[in-house]
Amino acid sequence: MKSSFRPALVNGPFQDCALYVAMRWQGAAVLLDLGRIDRLNPDNCMRLTHVCVSHTHMDHFMGFDHLLRLTLPRDRQLTFCGPPGLIDNIAGKLAGYTWNLTDSYTFAMTVVERHERHLARTLFRASTGFAREPLPDVPAAPGHLVEEQALRIDTTTLDHKIPCLAFRVSEARHLNVRRDVLDARGYRPGAWLAALKNAVRSETLDDAIAVQTTDGIQTIAAEELKRDLIIDQPGQRVAYVVDARFDPTNAQRIVDLARDADVLYCESRFLEEDRDEADKRYHLTARHAGFLARAAGVRRLEVFHFSPRYQGMAGAFRAEAQAEMSGKTRLEEDEPWTAALLSKPAAPRADIASDAMPTASVPARGHGLEHGGPAGLADVGNEPKRLSSGERS
Ligand SMILES: [Zn+2]
Ligand SMILES: [Zn+2]
Repeated sequence: MKSSFRPALVNGPFQDCALYVAMRWQGAAVLLDLGRIDRLNPDNCMRLTHVCVSHTHMDHFMGFDHLLRLTLPRDRQLTFCGPPGLIDNIAGKLAGYTWNLTDSYTFAMTVVERHERHLARTLFRASTGFAREPLPDVPAAPGHLVEEQALRIDTTTLDHKIPCLAFRVSEARHLNVRRDVLDARGYRPGAWLAALKNAVRSETLDDAIAVQTTDGIQTIAAEELKRDLIIDQPGQRVAYVVDARFDPTNAQRIVDLARDADVLYCESRFLEEDRDEADKRYHLTARHAGFLARAAGVRRLEVFHFSPRYQGMAGAFRAEAQAEMSGKTRLEEDEPWTAALLSKPAAPRADIASDAMPTASVPARGHGLEHGGPAGLADVGNEPKRLSSGERS
């Protein structure tokens, strides 16, 4: 079963942060960080339902105006999620323009701030000149950010001398029906299959299900149908970590968030030789990224957000991260406190709950983007072709 997620960085590894995660079957997408996005194809911008902003340093947030310019005349609803202060930051951006001719526009955005125990929300509508319309707070379990039918977004707060959010986007589990069993038993596809999948998702398998067969309706235990018919596979997990100092609290939070991810996109602002500067500037090195990927057991690591001082040295970042991820170098031998991060058991995979809390609707359109990549460290030079338009530097 192919995943519906197709994550791809919008820019090269020395440029602004923005990770576009397309969902193939839903025709929708989420964007993690909002640095410069003028290379993002406008059609792809129109598929966005959620934009998650780690923090509002310019290289993670200056694409806001570009996205607003594209979506303003459209009948779109966008949800922005980020740390406390995002509502003020967006209100400040909106206050920089004049909105006297947008009364008939239907574009609206909901801005959601992740606070310690709740989500604070404000609605901004073009038709009101983007006046602030505060919405009631929503209590939220630790780490929760977005939950929809097709995906879930979790977060953790990292110390970057300011709060900086890391994100994990999880795809709903795949429930596939065995066609060979259907045919062999004379079961006819119908609404009962949706009922069976719902029962599997909500783990309410005590009842029986009325199955349409070539001989009429047969009532069969849901548990038996699940055992014989359903192939249950976990969905893909994409973890995204930027701008954080390497310290015990941050490292533990990153490992917990990225545990068993299919791919971890991790900032590497500096090389190990400039470790002191990384600490001073609250950033990670490529070696840190490799260690965190190993500790979290991720399948693939993509390092990015390299300082421009190393222009032309992308290979050195990949090599340093790969050496640490593969265990060729071992950070725990140089920094004994890090060994504790390697011994934690794997956390159970969090699948999409059936009582999903919708925050924005996902339009049903296909766009045929597909994800693929080898296990281990991704080649950061292998950038998406169809995602963007224009030249790369
Ligand atoms: Zn920053
Ligand atoms: Zn940054």
